[in-house]
Amino acid sequence: EPVQGMALLIRGLAKEFGGVRALDGISLDVQPGSIHAIVGPNGSGKTTLLNMISGFYPASSGSIRLDGAEVVGRGPTSIARLGVQRTFQTPKLLGELSLLENVRFGAYARELSSGLEIAFRLPRARREAAALDAEALRLLALVGLAARAHEHAALLPHGQQRLVEIARALIGRPKLLLLDEPAAGLSMGELDELGDLMRAIRRMGTTLIMVEHHIELVASIADAVTVLDQGRILAEGTPEQVFSSAAVVHAYTGG
Ligand code: ADP
Repeated sequence: EPVQGMALLIRGLAKEFGGVRALDGISLDVQPGSIHAIVGPNGSGKTTLLNMISGFYPASSGSIRLDGAEVVGRGPTSIARLGVQRTFQTPKLLGELSLLENVRFGAYARELSSGLEIAFRLPRARREAAALDAEALRLLALVGLAARAHEHAALLPHGQQRLVEIARALIGRPKLLLLDEPAAGLSMGELDELGDLMRAIRRMGTTLIMVEHHIELVASIADAVTVLDQGRILAEGTPEQVFSSAAVVHAYTGG
């Protein structure tokens, strides 16, 4: 069923690590159901921003509203319950478990049967488990890995582990999905598939925010791009607007 994509409103968001100002009071709107790319040179604050939206780091100051709800001050579990899922630059899968088991794990976000319910109402729990297996397999097919559903996650290269993380995030039916460098380590063919996958996720209604270095991918699928440089917003707009900006070209080439 379609998901209602989440709107994100950031105002005056700042983060300091010791003396380093990783984010210097940024303001940013993300439209519901859009693909919004965050780009910028290394150290510009991109991952810090994702970590703050998902509650992994507390903000030093500022506001982050998800569909109107203030999330600054909330932790990752509380924010996940609102419908926010994420992937990591270095994938965090359970290596000894199969791809299918890893994807099924993501369903915790949907608050299915508790352990007690499973003990006392076995038939329902069994039906749920079977439905969950089917859904996990369908999502592995969506990311192109159904044929390897029963292999250990640790056997996959990192790029493909990130695709499993996307499937694991999707089983939680997120309203907002945060992807940290989803294209890193993918082959050319896999890159095309990633683009199709992200379009499919947008069609489901989910809002997508991706931190990504792969400019061609960003240019081909993003609805909006924000360029960070030294913790500030250097440029924002459509990919065409942003990538034709002299300031952006300068920041990238360091020229
Ligand atoms: P990007 O993702 O754009 O490469 P980051 O958000 O990782 O940039 O980093 C922005 C700045 O914040 C850098 O100067 C980085 O060294 C610093 N930083 C990020 N995370 C931490 C941390 N956990 N502790 C200290 N400094 C950090």
